[in-house]
Amino acid sequence: MSTTDKLPTRSENFSEWYNQIVLKAELADYAPVRGCMVVRPYGWALWENIQQGLDRRFKETGHVNAAFPLFIPMSFMEKEKAHVEGFSPELAVVTIGGGEVLEEPLVVRPTSETIIGYMYSKWIKSYRDLPVLINQWGSVVRWELRTRLFLRTLEFYWQEGHTAHATAQEAEEETLRMVNVYADMAINDAAIPVVPGYKSEKEKFAGAVRSTTIEAMMGDTRALQAGTSHFLGQNFAKAFDIQFLDWNNQMQHAWTTSWGLSTRFIGAIIMTHGDDQGLILPPKVAPIQVVIVPIFKSDSEMSVVMETVERVRQSLSGFRVKVDDRSEVTPGFKFNDWEMRGVPLRIEIGPRDVEKGTVALARRDLPGKAGKSFVPQTNLATQVSEILQNIQSSLYERALAFRQANTHDPRNYAELVEVLQNGWAYSWWCESAVCEAKVKEDTKATTRCMPFDQPEGSGKCVVCGEPAKRKVYFARAY
Ligand SMILES: [Zn+2]
Repeated sequence: MSTTDKLPTRSENFSEWYNQIVLKAELADYAPVRGCMVVRPYGWALWENIQQGLDRRFKETGHVNAAFPLFIPMSFMEKEKAHVEGFSPELAVVTIGGGEVLEEPLVVRPTSETIIGYMYSKWIKSYRDLPVLINQWGSVVRWELRTRLFLRTLEFYWQEGHTAHATAQEAEEETLRMVNVYADMAINDAAIPVVPGYKSEKEKFAGAVRSTTIEAMMGDTRALQAGTSHFLGQNFAKAFDIQFLDWNNQMQHAWTTSWGLSTRFIGAIIMTHGDDQGLILPPKVAPIQVVIVPIFKSDSEMSVVMETVERVRQSLSGFRVKVDDRSEVTPGFKFNDWEMRGVPLRIEIGPRDVEKGTVALARRDLPGKAGKSFVPQTNLATQVSEILQNIQSSLYERALAFRQANTHDPRNYAELVEVLQNGWAYSWWCESAVCEAKVKEDTKATTRCMPFDQPEGSGKCVVCGEPAKRKVYFARAY
């Protein structure tokens, strides 16, 4: 496959558009094992920028990193009833090691509450040992049947935070703190407007008391859960005997939380910002923020142009810059190529620019003339900085306007069913599983979250008409 093959448009076939961008932009590729992915250097560089944004925020809120094993004894999974029920269909299990049948099968971690809970029971003895605020960067395995690159793969990369606290209130505060950290990263780094809120009982994490989430609207109006944070109560503390002596010398079970955000988030960036020309990356997370394309026809032109290119590159040392000096392809090919790969800003430098002391700038988010400008080479770094900030905020505003335009407040059930064909509904809901299941059966939409930020007062459930205390987002989801 080459970059000259045309992408399908988003309206023709959103799903194929997505797959082709992932492959053509060289973000990821299919692995020899069905359902596994290879994250390629460009995709991994994007993930590293997401990681750095999160890791900095985790550390600012008092967390430290550690590493726990990939293998978990099968018996650990069985200790928390809801947890094993939720995860057992997706487990990969190792039964042979070193040519011998193992006495106890080992699960390849689908998530690490159990093994970390086990370790916490050894480490936590007194209220003085609390809170424990540990995060782990790694990968996990969930044996999914229907897979998509980044969105759902057998193995995926993520971080999982696991904390233990002396009181329920502290653990609840931690749960909210971390979902808000995710929202802050999504909004400010990835320019994705997300809705933070509570999951329904049906949609919560297996083993949690309460789950919170950030939900984002993709370019086809479907929802994507982009990060979750769970209040686990004392469920795992009881299953793994995490006990401590409190201030009154009484034994108490600890209160725990867990929270995770994965490479799925890359899928969210692609589907929130991309257009028919390809990927559009928000400057803060883009592996390459500025690409410089030299333009020349002869060797003599080349030497003067490249001299200016080098000077410009040096003046932009504060940015992630790439000079595309390939000689085997034309400038026009390069323009299309970097547009498809989503680089936020392109700088073109030709012989006339050298003469005039200018460069041509082209914004990825505004194709054609609208995004083109000609600026002096002097003071270029300031200009570039302003334009990148402008692109960052424009992408956010555009995504927010799109979500608002495609979010509806249906007056009755018939309207709910209709709007859910192509958008989100924000409706009063009585919080009964029966109403939730009916909507899913009729529309394939699920409850996405009950936002923290709720309107005043109360209303009537859009499904059954009974009194409702909170509004919920219904949407079809990835
Ligand atoms: Zn209802």
